[in-house]
Amino acid sequence: MDNYTLTEFGEPLVMRCEPELAPRGTEVLIEVSCCGVCQTDVSIRKGYYDLGGGKKYAMRDRGMTPPMILGHEISGRLVALGPDAAISEDQIGRTFVIYPWIGCGECVMCQGAEENLCLAPRFLGLQRPGGHAERILIPHARYLVDIGHLDPALAATYACSGLTSLGALNKLAPQAKTLPLLLIGGGGLGQSALNIARALGYTHVTVADVDRTKREIAVASGATHTLDPLSCRDEDFVGQFASVIDFVGNPATYEFGLKALRRGGRYVIVGLAGGEVSQALPPVSLRPISIIGSLTGSLEELRTLIELARNGKLKPTMIERLPREDANHALDRVRDGDVAGRLVLVSKSRDAYDR
Ligand SMILES: [Zn+2]
Ligand SMILES: [Zn+2]
Repeated sequence: MDNYTLTEFGEPLVMRCEPELAPRGTEVLIEVSCCGVCQTDVSIRKGYYDLGGGKKYAMRDRGMTPPMILGHEISGRLVALGPDAAISEDQIGRTFVIYPWIGCGECVMCQGAEENLCLAPRFLGLQRPGGHAERILIPHARYLVDIGHLDPALAATYACSGLTSLGALNKLAPQAKTLPLLLIGGGGLGQSALNIARALGYTHVTVADVDRTKREIAVASGATHTLDPLSCRDEDFVGQFASVIDFVGNPATYEFGLKALRRGGRYVIVGLAGGEVSQALPPVSLRPISIIGSLTGSLEELRTLIELARNGKLKPTMIERLPREDANHALDRVRDGDVAGRLVLVSKSRDAYDR
């Protein structure tokens, strides 16, 4: 079985051939059709997150050690079942998106159905082998979500970028749908959040991005307004928004996002571009605002998202397909911000490439 392996942090992925996989116990075997490329993959290949001030958060401290197979936005065909697999044999041959944020099943977060916040995670493409491979073992069939007629390349992106967007939107106030929402960053995540917000009934969605093309895409996707953070006037954004979701997450976007909040607003930070800020404390309670972190989403949220997409309520995010063999090139392009929507690596042997 061929895969693309990270053999050392900071190095390119290497094509390797390994023995065939056979599912045991409750495991199921998936033949990978598509695997989306994410900023997190770029950070893992590099080996750390930038904490600012020359400080780093090493991937080794998150339980990641090469050699490892990256890729956590996975869709594929069910091809074999372990003897105790909790899925019937007539499902073999169907295409599923895989929930990658697999927990230990025992810690307090897993018990609360928030496996994505597990204290001892087994996330696909992070602590367990991911989707840059021909086939992948999944520990339990409950992590498979049937995509029906959906494009497997698009469905793959729901496992991280879509789910992360929905997870962030679900952290906004219950009344947020009819109040102004600002999305910072109009790349793959921002577009996905815009589409999901529209599908959920958000009426006033503004997208801020320094890139004119991304602002134009946002308008075409139904954004109410767009902002260029480098040239907009204070009266265009200061105190104008009940909710802000920051898909970039650096000191400049943090400052912009907090200024944009009105009294009582919520600022949700998702992006991991990195850096550090110094925060005056009295305004947090005087305004009073909420600063909330958000990390991917739950299995239940992925099921909700796939149902929304299968019911035709969700506008598709822009997808660009590349063959799996181009994994390093794809990671370079995501690192450089050279992607209009979402990059997806596809297996040449699958029909996914031609759709
Ligand atoms: Zn991701
Ligand atoms: Zn756990």
